[in-house]
Amino acid sequence: MGVTTSSTTGEPDLNKIASAVKFCEIHPSKKVKFYCKNDRSMFCSKCILKHTEMKHDVIQISPKIEEMKKMIEEMVIEVEKHD
Ligand SMILES: [Zn+2]
Ligand SMILES: [Zn+2]
Repeated sequence: MGVTTSSTTGEPDLNKIASAVKFCEIHPSKKVKFYCKNDRSMFCSKCILKHTEMKHDVIQISPKIEEMKKMIEEMVIEVEKHD
């Protein structure tokens, strides 16, 4: 007893993050690792050239859940600003 530890208590945002981490639409075997501020979309490392060639503002999605959370929060804020 007392072996199970749950760190998810009071962290409803984790569901949002889980649904945000997905696979590339063009390359279904590759996870999305980048986010383009111009297109407001996420894509894999194979797709990045397409965006950098167009001088788009591309940021890397952090594999760390905490940084990822922060990034998504910033994304949400930006979207709200635009609307
Ligand atoms: Zn891709
Ligand atoms: Zn782009």
